[in-house]
Amino acid sequence: MTTNDSNPLLRPATTLPAFDEIRPEHVVPGIRVLVKEVEGILEALERDVNPSWDTLVEPIERMQDRLGFGFGIVDHLMGVSNSPPLREAYDEVEPEVVKLLTRIGQSQPIYRGLVALRDGAAGKNLDPAQRRVVDKLIQEAELSGVALEGAARERFQQIRLEIAELATRFGNQLLDATKAFALDLSTSEEIEGLPTSFLEMAAQAARAAGMETATPAAGPWRVTLDGPSYLGFMKHAKRRDLRETLYRAHLRRASEGNLDNRPVIDAMLRLRLEEAKLLGFETYADLSLSRKMAGAVSSAEKLLEELLSASHGAAVRDLEEVRVFMGERGAAAEAAEIRHWDVPYWSERLREARYDYSEEQIRKFFPLPRALDGLFALAKRLFAVEVTPADGEAPVWHPDVRFFKVRSLEGEELAAFYLDPYSRPAEKKGGAWMNEVVGRSRLFAPPGRNARLPVAYLICNGSPPIDGNPSLMTFREIETLFHEFGHTLQHMLTRVDIGLASGIRNVEWDAVELPSQFMENWCYHRDTLVGLSEHVETKRLLPNELFEKIRASRTFQAGLQTLRQLNFGFLDLELHHRFTPGGAESPFDVQRRVAARTTLLPPIPEDRFLCSFSHIFQGGYAAGYYSYKWAEVLSADAFAAFEEAGLERSEAVAETGRRFRETVLALGGSESPMEVFKKFRGREPTTAALLRHSGLAALAY
Ligand code: ZN
Repeated sequence: MTTNDSNPLLRPATTLPAFDEIRPEHVVPGIRVLVKEVEGILEALERDVNPSWDTLVEPIERMQDRLGFGFGIVDHLMGVSNSPPLREAYDEVEPEVVKLLTRIGQSQPIYRGLVALRDGAAGKNLDPAQRRVVDKLIQEAELSGVALEGAARERFQQIRLEIAELATRFGNQLLDATKAFALDLSTSEEIEGLPTSFLEMAAQAARAAGMETATPAAGPWRVTLDGPSYLGFMKHAKRRDLRETLYRAHLRRASEGNLDNRPVIDAMLRLRLEEAKLLGFETYADLSLSRKMAGAVSSAEKLLEELLSASHGAAVRDLEEVRVFMGERGAAAEAAEIRHWDVPYWSERLREARYDYSEEQIRKFFPLPRALDGLFALAKRLFAVEVTPADGEAPVWHPDVRFFKVRSLEGEELAAFYLDPYSRPAEKKGGAWMNEVVGRSRLFAPPGRNARLPVAYLICNGSPPIDGNPSLMTFREIETLFHEFGHTLQHMLTRVDIGLASGIRNVEWDAVELPSQFMENWCYHRDTLVGLSEHVETKRLLPNELFEKIRASRTFQAGLQTLRQLNFGFLDLELHHRFTPGGAESPFDVQRRVAARTTLLPPIPEDRFLCSFSHIFQGGYAAGYYSYKWAEVLSADAFAAFEEAGLERSEAVAETGRRFRETVLALGGSESPMEVFKKFRGREPTTAALLRHSGLAALAY
């Protein structure tokens, strides 16, 4: 039994979460108390709206913070300490939390109060950051239909519900269709070219399907349309006809029979357009772009066009290289009529021939403790902050979890973060991410301070130490660590004291990856990468020759890769901007029209890629796929400021680093991302740096 007093989820967000005390049985009673409490605040606020910052916006932050802190802990534990009782408890209360957050965001009295605050006398006293917070709150409320009345309002809510259902159906059907296909192999000739790790995976899949005697060496092997299996097979399987079979099955997923996503796509595009029109926009893309940094479809398309003209020639050249290489390797006949299923296989052979290094070879140079030291030394060089271990000063959810504090060089405490470095397949989600524990805010300032300090979770999935040896990191894992640390820095080094705009909050979708991708660039900087290295046995630094291979492989087939992203970006915008549901053209006609400009090999007639384009039909990327490239332009251009200052000149790097800290990292969501970028760079972003880093610059002229 737990009483409210003893429930550790109910402690105020000025203390660190009591991970040593929190148990699954605290979740349902704890979260229900929080929901009740916040409902009480909401109802009091709605009864008596007083349109001023202190009496309206601050209570909104208090409500979000109270719920966000308590439920955030539960959400976090779902990702890192998952268990059946925790999942059950989470499922029970999650809908109540989501419902309440929606209710706050769509409250009409609060909305009217915010508009009165913006337009009234009190609005004149708001500082620019406060003004932006109020504007964004109003915009988000309007985009969720709060200003609609009567039948329009009802129809809008109905559309929202239907779109959510369609998205779930899209995902489920795609999952089921992916699972429904299998290619079972049994002869050594069929598996030619496949690496051991692939055969292990394929034998395991066979055993899971009831072929109990399957072994990696003798088979049988099951190939599926799951990402790792599909990609691995396309890259390594020598049998061209089998690659073709798999390719065709992959592109036909969820496009026929009782798992057909085509009607889902039609309905979704029609409903999104209707939703946009109800809110006063011409198209759904206009709606989506209204809340993004790009601001207008034309700006996003301008960027994509610019990248297209810079990369098309390079892509043609990349494909030609593959053809020539095929000819050299005795596949001239296939090269003469190269098909989609040839490109991944022969590209991989070409890559191996050019940049021959193995992941194992690289990993031995990067023990995790050494890489962390190098990363923190970089943070000190660039941003004048000291990261120091503070293990034991905060309860943790697993003995491997570390706790760090971040201070200025003068010793002022700025922030803290947890690092959970290793994979634990039984209870921890895959991938890597950064999340907030608490954000910087003056509302929750402890005695003697002017703001609560930000705290973050930094979660990775590296291989755990074995037999007393340290964890060894692949190059990709190092990039990922840098990426997530970039998000963590923006959260931690904010100088904004308004909780609703500090750190990563209130930052537009297409700008939020700026600090994270910016940090990735340092992995390709020789001194930085070498500085992270120390061979686990020989204690040697990363040799130059290996560094050069890593750097060169970064631009391998950059033309083809860019073209692929542009194809998706254009297709997404076209469907949400120029496509007329029920008109003469089908979504698949649009796909073909876009492909004519943005692909080199025309789609095969039965190509149903849209039926598996989950980014835009299931995830949050609808009329937003371009964001990947948009943020890459920003991050590359930001890194170029350091290159221009001179990467080998430590004082210039430090000075540029301070400027990055004082603008991009410090200002967070308190100003528009374009203004923040201009404060750092002295001008608007350009694509020059991204093209140069990708090796595409020469063709841009
Ligand atoms: Zn990210």
